[in-house]
Amino acid sequence: MEQKITRAKHLSKEQRAEFYQSKYDYYKNFTRGLIIIATIAYITFFLTDCGIYGRFASETVLSRVIVLLPLLLYIYLSKKQHYYKTMVIAAYLMVHIIIWCTDWATYILPDREYAGEGMMVMNTIFVCAGFCAPYKYAIVAHMGLIVDILIANIFIRYDNVTMMIMFNLPCIIGVCIMHYFMENVYLEHYLVNERLQNLVVYDQLTGVYNRNQLKRISNSDTEELMIGDNIPITLLIVDLDFFKTVNDRFGHEGGDVVLKHTVDVIKKSVRSSDYIIRWGGEEFVIILAGCDVAMGIEVAEKIRVNIEASENGLCPITASIGVAAYQGGSYHSAVERADKALYRAKTGGRNKVVAYEE
Ligand code: GH3
Ligand code: MG
Ligand code: MG
Repeated sequence: MEQKITRAKHLSKEQRAEFYQSKYDYYKNFTRGLIIIATIAYITFFLTDCGIYGRFASETVLSRVIVLLPLLLYIYLSKKQHYYKTMVIAAYLMVHIIIWCTDWATYILPDREYAGEGMMVMNTIFVCAGFCAPYKYAIVAHMGLIVDILIANIFIRYDNVTMMIMFNLPCIIGVCIMHYFMENVYLEHYLVNERLQNLVVYDQLTGVYNRNQLKRISNSDTEELMIGDNIPITLLIVDLDFFKTVNDRFGHEGGDVVLKHTVDVIKKSVRSSDYIIRWGGEEFVIILAGCDVAMGIEVAEKIRVNIEASENGLCPITASIGVAAYQGGSYHSAVERADKALYRAKTGGRNKVVAYEE
């Protein structure tokens, strides 16, 4: 029996990477917003510095405003870089930079009474930052808070470092456990979403794409294909010959068997990077990226020969195939041209490959 997926470790390595990327993408704006707010809050604590000194606290200005530099870098990076590992590390680095700057300001300030409370605020920030991260990253980053406190203590000499650790440690452990559960909650959401996505873009009978996939790989306004720049793309339309008679002889179930079998043959005849789309009943559009028309005709011929030679256990079957180059713009015009070529293959005797000509 297949194992029920309830934790990220049940996923394969590739699936796990996709899952964590999706988790990051889902929460990235939240995380960025949180980090901006946390940094601004850190800067506004300058007002409390002024309160402690009873005047303009020129001593802590640098330690307060310098945090803007890494923040700007982080914002810039978050716009350019979308890989979850890099961005999760950058987000946590930013949280730690805020902590280091807090330590710096605390080192300068004459009154360190509030250092403990400051660390508790940082715990809250770790809670929020962890949403976008794999929980193991969250544990390592949050545990770093203890290291930060211990290192800061070398310079600052807190009066109550033991108490600070005693307060922080249960919080850190609690938050890490929460992140573990939160990750499983997101996993549930992710898997449901993935199942729905599959229903939307895959044909339930044959397992190949349905027409919706074309919407996903094309521009929503212009319907221009977005599968590689400046490469030739060729479109095939494969239509089974006299398929109605298969249904008439063997019933709809028999027809379904032949359809599924034919799809297996098509899959074996093209590269895994090509798109096989069930266009309608027994018609399939195949998109060959990186293939010019001459190569497309060769692939179509291979499909035709393989279908004719294959045995589906019920009856021999053949296919007619129309070939047309995708010339940019809406994919519909290329489908229309391939369809015209297919019509000529049908009227020319079937079991043929015909390329579109003006
Ligand atoms: P031609 O050589 O001109 O293409 O003849 P044809 O009989 O293949 O063409 P036609 O388009 O008239 O028939 C297609 C048939 O495919 C009609 C329809 O009943 C059948 N069909 C469509 N979808 C399915 C399906 O999901 N399962 C089965 N078993 N049959 C289907
Ligand atoms: Mg047909
Ligand atoms: Mg048809």
